[in-house]
Amino acid sequence: MDYGQRHAVEIEAAVRVAHALGAAGHRIQKLDLTQIGGSALTARSIAVPVSGIKSGIPVTYVPARNTILLSLALGWAEVLGARHIFVGANAVDYSGYPDCRPEYLRAFEQMANLATKAAVEGRRIEVRGPLVDLSKAAIVRLALELGVDPAMTVSCYQPDAEGRACGVCDACRIRKAGFEAAGTVVDVGQGVTHLVPGDRAAYASLPAGAYSSVRTLSAAEVVRLPEHVSEAVNYRMLDRQFWS
Ligand SMILES: [Zn+2]
Repeated sequence: MDYGQRHAVEIEAAVRVAHALGAAGHRIQKLDLTQIGGSALTARSIAVPVSGIKSGIPVTYVPARNTILLSLALGWAEVLGARHIFVGANAVDYSGYPDCRPEYLRAFEQMANLATKAAVEGRRIEVRGPLVDLSKAAIVRLALELGVDPAMTVSCYQPDAEGRACGVCDACRIRKAGFEAAGTVVDVGQGVTHLVPGDRAAYASLPAGAYSSVRTLSAAEVVRLPEHVSEAVNYRMLDRQFWS
């Protein structure tokens, strides 16, 4: 969705992910939520907070955004004859957005089955949030297990012109914490690092001398992780070889 978000670079990321996963179709729909504003992501007059995660719902909440987006998805699903809508909301490591909670998704599904011709005629629609109950670390591990390259994805609310993460917004902080909890970097020397997901204790099984050093990611490295992961062509091989 191109809704006028500050981090429009995520639209390019969605194109990359859809192509990489062989999606049957991908469309970019425009809906200008800057006309409503009321969020740091859609109103340029409201700054993205960068001083750390605070209690309460932050100004990066976009008023009713997921309801608006899911409503569009619902209309499209009805046209396609689809039976399921999948949404990537997460309610564990998140910013307290009310429209990312499992009870919200259940309520939307109930509404969808009241609101559509398809459902009234017997074709119910399910709303699924496969990530909703997972920690960010679990999501990172799942992505790597499924062969999704995190370098294709964007979390930052205010990336620079080249799409690089700021490292200090809430989305960056939560993403960083997830990668830190999920993985470690194996430094194989000559400036090449490999991401290996899993338990650090398992490094004991690595062949002696195979790696020049083994260390956890620093915060600065996690910000740069997409580049590291891009270089880490062998990380899945390492995963299978040493971690299964
Ligand atoms: Zn950021």
